[in-house]
Amino acid sequence: MQPNILSRDEHNVSRKDISKNALKVLYRLNEAGYASYLVGGGVRDLLLQQHPKDFDIATDASPEEIKALFKNCRLIGRRFRLAHVVFGRDIIEVATFRAAHSEGEGGATGDSGRITRDNVYGGTLADDAVRRDFTVNALFYNIDDFSVVDFFDGVEHLEQGRLTFIGNAYDRVIEDPVRALRAVRFAAKLGLRMDDDCVAAINEHRHLLKEIPPARLYEEALKLVQSGHGIASLELLREHDLLQYLFPLTDARLKNHDEYAESMILHGLGNTDSRVKEELPVTPAYIYAVFLWPDVKAAAQNHEADGFDPVPALHMAADEIIPAQLAATSLPKRFSIQMREIWVMQPRLNNTRGARANRMLSNPRFRAAYDFLCLRNDTGEDLQKLCSTWESKQQTPEGQALLEEARSRAASRRRSRSPRTASRSRAPSTDGSRDGGQAVGKKSRGRSGKRGAGES
Ligand code: ATP
Ligand code: MG
Repeated sequence: MQPNILSRDEHNVSRKDISKNALKVLYRLNEAGYASYLVGGGVRDLLLQQHPKDFDIATDASPEEIKALFKNCRLIGRRFRLAHVVFGRDIIEVATFRAAHSEGEGGATGDSGRITRDNVYGGTLADDAVRRDFTVNALFYNIDDFSVVDFFDGVEHLEQGRLTFIGNAYDRVIEDPVRALRAVRFAAKLGLRMDDDCVAAINEHRHLLKEIPPARLYEEALKLVQSGHGIASLELLREHDLLQYLFPLTDARLKNHDEYAESMILHGLGNTDSRVKEELPVTPAYIYAVFLWPDVKAAAQNHEADGFDPVPALHMAADEIIPAQLAATSLPKRFSIQMREIWVMQPRLNNTRGARANRMLSNPRFRAAYDFLCLRNDTGEDLQKLCSTWESKQQTPEGQALLEEARSRAASRRRSRSPRTASRSRAPSTDGSRDGGQAVGKKSRGRSGKRGAGES
């Protein structure tokens, strides 16, 4: 298999656009005599003159050899073993060239044809390229001579705006159904058009997504809704009937033309998209709270009709709805706790007077709950007066002091947490922990503070 090789002056991938840490890893591998290439989004996005989310590296060094070379390295993943070289919050992913499963031990395939282990090493660059998913994701930037190596016309496909599977699209989706979700993500993020066989393969084999562990689907769901292209991703997930595997309750509501759910989710995603563009942090707790709210609200209303007070009614609703979601995608406990807090604070925000209301302002979840209230207002619930009252309360000196108290308490809690809870990316923080909220709506609501594991 002869690749096209674009020399340094035939492409626009430049070292100045590659993170210092990624360059350090590339050079160290190269100096130790290993093949050392930037690959994936780091090359694809730079060719498109976009800002890569993270930098992935491919090498012929084995995971153990990589570990021996970097003291700040840990090996992760069972299905797909790879090395993480850790620089504080920045993590560079280094993958060993893969070979076909017939070439050695380390590969396994389930009954349906799904690859359950993909750890056959010893491949060449060409072997590695053919095992990647899309032509535009199999472009390699060689740190040795700064050329770009392209086996499957990925550069041309980028120019044509095409998203094309390497090899037979049906086989590639059977091997790893998550590639259907990846197709949607790249189409939404990069504005690429899926090839017809890609669409047909998704149609035929989307049901295989049911076999994917919830933890992996959680990672994919987050990448879709927190990519900064959440609205476009949702549109494509619906078009290709893939939403059911990530958010089944939401999918059912949207299929039933539930206008409230549609409006809530579009506003929530729109808010997240703008925040990602502004490099403000976003939190899974918030976006999951948004997706599940229509169901939680409906269930809570039933419990209230049975005579329960609003807060216990919401807790009972959360107890019913959260497990239904966890059967599809997991959600780390700390986020499900925060999500529940956002919900149960909604009725509490109806009370704007007295000491209790002041205590709300010093609650570390206040800002997220307030943002959620404003989102409900933007969605068409008549809550403008309530939102304005809380907005003014935050502006008073007393309000500012209480908010500051909540901020410093949250900061000291964070300091006591392990510094090794780094996320693999240079993208904005995705745990929302730096301000505990996610601002909503077009107008600034009186805030100025500036403000990403699992199986891979
Ligand atoms: P992003 O911008 O989201 O990081 P990416 O293309 O870099 O996009 P990653 O998930 O970081 O995606 O993976 C890096 C590369 O590894 C991909 O570009 C692709 O070549 C390969 N890869 C990742 N996941 C798969 C998969 N499920 N099947 C085949 N190849 C994959
Ligand atoms: Mg990447």
